[in-house]
Amino acid sequence: MSEERSLNFLEEIIEEDIRNGKNGGRVLTRFPPEPNGYLHIGHAKSICLNFGLAQKYNGKTNLRFDDTNPVTEETEYVDNIKADIKWLGFNWDEELYSSDYFDQLFDFAIELIKKGLAYVDDSTAEEIAAAKGTPTEPGKPTPNRSRSIEKNIQLFEEMKAGKYPDGAKVLRAKVDLASPNMHLRDPLMYRIKHAHHHRTGNKWCIYPMYDFAHGQSDSIEKITHSVCTLEFIPHRDLYEWFIEQLGIFPSKQYEFARLNMTYTVMSKRKLLQLVNEKYVSSWDDPRMPTISAFRRRGYTPESIRNFCDRIGIAKRENMIDYSLLEFCIREDLNKTAWRRMAVLDPIKMVITNYPKGQTEMLHGENNPEVEGGDGVRDLPFSSELWIEREDFMEEPPKKFFRLGVGLMVRLKSAYIVKCDDFVKDENGRVTEIHCSYIPESKSGNDTSGINVKGTIHWVSAPHAKTAEIRLYDRLFRVEDPSNEEGDFKEYINPDSLEVIKNVYIEQDLSRAVPGKGYQFIRKGYFTLDTDSTPDHLIFNRTVTLKDAWAKEVKKG
Ligand code: ATP
Ligand code: MG
Repeated sequence: MSEERSLNFLEEIIEEDIRNGKNGGRVLTRFPPEPNGYLHIGHAKSICLNFGLAQKYNGKTNLRFDDTNPVTEETEYVDNIKADIKWLGFNWDEELYSSDYFDQLFDFAIELIKKGLAYVDDSTAEEIAAAKGTPTEPGKPTPNRSRSIEKNIQLFEEMKAGKYPDGAKVLRAKVDLASPNMHLRDPLMYRIKHAHHHRTGNKWCIYPMYDFAHGQSDSIEKITHSVCTLEFIPHRDLYEWFIEQLGIFPSKQYEFARLNMTYTVMSKRKLLQLVNEKYVSSWDDPRMPTISAFRRRGYTPESIRNFCDRIGIAKRENMIDYSLLEFCIREDLNKTAWRRMAVLDPIKMVITNYPKGQTEMLHGENNPEVEGGDGVRDLPFSSELWIEREDFMEEPPKKFFRLGVGLMVRLKSAYIVKCDDFVKDENGRVTEIHCSYIPESKSGNDTSGINVKGTIHWVSAPHAKTAEIRLYDRLFRVEDPSNEEGDFKEYINPDSLEVIKNVYIEQDLSRAVPGKGYQFIRKGYFTLDTDSTPDHLIFNRTVTLKDAWAKEVKKG
């Protein structure tokens, strides 16, 4: 898989660093989620990259919760983020929190004030923005820029002590009001926010801004390669400026293109809206692009890691086709999923020459892709079966290789049957079809000499269990809902969920567990849903057997 591809640009950088003996050859990356939502497939990309780089170069990866924003963060999110990373198959070295560094960050801020490199500004947000100038026009100092060091220390201590209301003052770095990089025009370091924090409680009423927290946290942990997405390129100068002025460990920031995928949205803010406004049932609703939703839907960690590997690391934004992810899960489940039979739209088949009331135990391979079939399961056969309504036609056209009067098919893992007759109700709807079976045609021991073109799935009626199945389609009807006019939620696909009740399934499926993949022959890959109970089995379709969507798009 990855062995043969050429190095990506980050691997090149790291190998160069190792060759030069930088950091003694040590590689320490970090994955820094903000605990304000569940992880999505974009985060999976970042996880695979950060943990993958460390694994490849005998390094380590820290999990650092970037929890500097007290208002949106919750412990529920922390727990789910950890579960998702573990499920993806990665282990972090240390579990850390930016909030653990609040004391240290405060001391760093004091240090910068003492060096004349930071000041307390009483100007409003509007005044500060107005004085910043434009990319072509330098900014102007606000009156507070020339405050004395003593005064700045006093005011900053008072901010910390809770003397001022939210928004009354900020601490700013004194960098360069004429810099072509707007992020260097005296950026904010601290703001006042009287809010409860999920870890530090009410200890703090001032909180560091991202730019003052992130790089310093990297440095405190001695992160060697701090990998983030492209929108942080303009922040890099400031990242380096703080580290240089403080003379602390020189972590380095590198940027790659975030993952964008068609037919979905990938921002926690938008995903939260879908949950709160009940467009989906929860963060792990199987239509969501979250890692927990993919897990619930039946995706395997391997398939997601494979997907992330296949799309590679780019330096330019691009849009990945959702069907590539589906390709990866199909490829994986084809090799691992056990084959089972389920009839979604049933019609009764009576085998008139088979003894009524008799049960014969047949067997079917779990997975023919595996040497030896991966074992077999019991497959009870009797004179009354359920088959798929679409596998019978009253007036079959030529080349219909399924059932109609006079036509023959093979019942998967069982016998060849011939259709003799059918019964209709008063509305003209076919209710039952009558067949005769060929006793010598038993699968695995077929001496009948009869060749049939079609094989259909079936379930023995007296032995069948019932289940509900949930079929999913794209959550949005357009490729890039965030880029359309109006609200992205206007582009939700109203048919993204189809529920089918009273599906007949093989009795063996009552032993299914969530996460174990099954191929319902001819119907797709499925897994047991977490809502399922022994009395009410529910299966999610993970993915169809073929890419029906690609065809649709071409047609449309
Ligand atoms: P969102 O905009 O979805 O809320 P975020 O960047 O605010 O995402 P964080 O929790 O801050 O979310 O992200 C943690 C890490 O994951 C960061 O390093 C971030 O760059 C990375 N990341 C987030 N979204 C993507 C994506 N779509 N592709 C790749 N990496 C991503
Ligand atoms: Mg963020």
